[in-house]
Order: sequence, then C-alpha cells, then structure tokens
Amino acid sequence: MRKETIVENLNRVRERIVTTCAACGRDPGAVSLLAVSKTRPAEDLRAAYVAGQRHFGENYLQEAQEKRQQLADLDICWHFIGPLQSNKTRAVAEGFHWLHTVDRLKIARRLSAQRPPEMPPLNICLQVNVDAEESKSGVSVQALPALAAAVAELPNLRLRGLMAIPAPRESAARQREPFAQLAQLLRQLRNQLPGQPLDTLSMGMSGDMEAAIACGATIVRIGTDIFGARN
Ligand SMILES: *Cc1c(COP(=O)(O)O)cnc(C)c1O
Repeated sequence: MRKETIVENLNRVRERIVTTCAACGRDPGAVSLLAVSKTRPAEDLRAAYVAGQRHFGENYLQEAQEKRQQLADLDICWHFIGPLQSNKTRAVAEGFHWLHTVDRLKIARRLSAQRPPEMPPLNICLQVNVDAEESKSGVSVQALPALAAAVAELPNLRLRGLMAIPAPRESAARQREPFAQLAQLLRQLRNQLPGQPLDTLSMGMSGDMEAAIACGATIVRIGTDIFGARN
C-alpha cells in the first residue's frame, strides 16, 4: 500500500481513539494502538513506524520472523497474536515482547523455560473464549482462574491481562457485552491475584474498536483500518 495512505489511515485510527475516549471519559493515553501487520510486507510496517507506530502484532511465526529480520534496525515492540503450537514456542520466547494468546498451561510452562534469562519477562495475555464457541481457541471462563494462578507462578512470564476475539454482534450495544464481560473477568483476577501487574485488556479490532474502548480496552488490535483489506 502507498506509504501516504498508511500514514493517513493511522492518523484516522488515532483520531478515532481520541474521540472515543473523550466520549466515554477515558484518557486516550491509556489505550495503546497495536498495528496488526499479518500478510503485509515489511515496507508497510516501516511506513507506519516512520509515522510513530511502535507496537506491531503478527499472527504467523515464519512470516513474523522474516519481518523481524528485515526490520531489525527499528526499535519495534513485537506482539504475537496468533495461535501458537507448543512446538513453536521457542521463537516467541526468544524474539517477542508480548504474547496475547496463551490458553494452556503447557504452552506457558514452555515459554517460561525458553525465555532467555537476560531478557525481561515475556508479557502474557490469556485468551478467553468469551462466546464459548466450540471452534475457537481460548480458555473457558470456568477454567480461567486456575490457569491464571498457575501462569502467575512462572518466573519468566509477566501475566498482564486478558485478550478476546468475540463474535460480531448485531448492534453496538450488544457488541459491548462480551467486552464488558472480559473487563469483569480482569477485575475478578485482580482480586484473586493481588500483586500481579494485571493492567491489560487486549480487545477491539477494526470493526469493534469503539465498543471495546468504551468497556476499558487498553490495547486495541487494528489491521484493516491501517493497512487496508487483506487478500
Ligand atoms: C487479524 C487480527 C486482528 C486485526 O483485525 P482487523 O479486523 O483487520 O482490524 C486483531 N486481532 C487478531 C487476533 C487478529 O488475528
């Protein structure tokens, strides 16, 4: 995509964040924009970086590794937001700052063991299957407290909060329901695990960003509205 278009899109998304925060009385500085760059060439990320974007989210490991090499000269904070198989944890443990999709203890244990000791702990969000959809990844609401307690014990991980990808709803009011539920689950975890840095709600994409911000999102994950429609 044209560099100028990416920058315009980015500025438009930033304005939407500011407007939405103003409408619901939140500090726009409390909402961080994660640019979701899956399937985009490295030059698109570079264009966004030049316009001040620092956080990028990738879904596919091999693709992400290639871009990390191509963009090694930039000070990017890399987030892995795709499903992660347990035999692929090492690359995330060694090369990323954040992982948003932990839903099993086995994966978390491997990540903690593989995180190089000289690096800061890997920031973790637990992915919650808020709609209890059979086909979707994410820990169930019922199993969340036990998983969170176990992950919080792992030395080289930092449990930061929760992530969800709710199914689209038919109205804006309805769209807020799963986000409000995720926010409630985070409050419960804070009570359950005092002392953990549980400050993160990773929720909201191009189509439902406003609803997520209204419910307390601290990271919105935006792809299409920055880089255009994916093929
Ligand atoms: C692709 C993706 C996004 C971005 O979605 P858009 O609708 O393009 O903004 C956000 N989160 C996850 C987990 C994704 O896979």
